[in-house]
Amino acid sequence: MPNDCIFCQIVAGDIPSKTVYEDESVLAFLDVNPLAPGHTLVISKDHHETLDDLPDDAAADLFSVLHGLTPAVETAVDADASNVAFNNGGAAGQEVPHVHGHIIPRFDGDGGHPIHAIAG
Ligand code: 5GP
Repeated sequence: MPNDCIFCQIVAGDIPSKTVYEDESVLAFLDVNPLAPGHTLVISKDHHETLDDLPDDAAADLFSVLHGLTPAVETAVDADASNVAFNNGGAAGQEVPHVHGHIIPRFDGDGGHPIHAIAG
């Protein structure tokens, strides 16, 4: 793992975070700068920069957790829907080069375009 990777440091417990879900290969935690209440990041614990680099088994684990966690996050914050998305690579707005999915709860009438909401 690169020592300067923020998300690897969160996995190691060296940077505090608010855990939403954890198993052997996947960690989910609240985004430090949420775009909506309950904004959750879901990461592969192993360091891979983008989806393009992610091995099949790690991708299956990550998507399985995203699938199960999305409705749970929506329920937890009483959301009406959510954006579930990856900024996959720097040109797409990925700022932290450790693969992660965003679960961003959405509420009827909250406005905002989903892609703009994530890429900033
Ligand atoms: P990206 O633009 O790479 O798709 O999204 C990176 C996300 O990581 C941003 O939404 C940002 O707020 C979040 N983030 C960056 N540093 C930290 C941190 O140290 N802790 C947590 N919990 N989230 C972070």
